[in-house]
Amino acid sequence: MSASAPAPRICLEEGCTVAISRTSKGRCKPCALKRLYNDPAIRDRCAAARAAYHARPEVKEANRARMADFMVNMPEAERERRREHGRKMVATRLHTPEAQAKALAARSVPEVKARRARSITRTWLPWLPDDLVEAYRALTRSGLSAADARAALEPEIPGTAAHTARVLANVRDAQRIRRERDQASAY
Ligand SMILES: [Zn+2]
Repeated sequence: MSASAPAPRICLEEGCTVAISRTSKGRCKPCALKRLYNDPAIRDRCAAARAAYHARPEVKEANRARMADFMVNMPEAERERRREHGRKMVATRLHTPEAQAKALAARSVPEVKARRARSITRTWLPWLPDDLVEAYRALTRSGLSAADARAALEPEIPGTAAHTARVLANVRDAQRIRRERDQASAY
């Protein structure tokens, strides 16, 4: 037998006839990638890595800056294309009787209602923390004006002047009580 060139290797994947190099692990590149993509464990790992990458503050900031820049400098044609798309969505998707009925039904779901109420509160009463919303409602329902209800709750909200004043008053009270106790025990 004379020394002849080794037979060309063919991709292992069934039905694939692509020739592969001597150093290949057995599959041509498209078949190897397809196999990786069809492996749930590998796919999950890729998704997790992608999510971690996009959660990095510097990546988020860069994306935000790029998007803001694009929004400010958007070409007029793109702006008009988006307006047109918006009009079409309103006409064909949002204002149909089915869509309106669906939105109405969604609004009666308790979680959706709560989310909506929270979002409205954050918009109109941005100073009010979530855990005091119920207290605020109780006060205004009992007849207090919005300004009085706010004045009544502000001592509870860290960062406000009223809260600082209350903390200071507490400290002074504690000092006074200690002083009185010390004086009483001096006799
Ligand atoms: Zn192949």
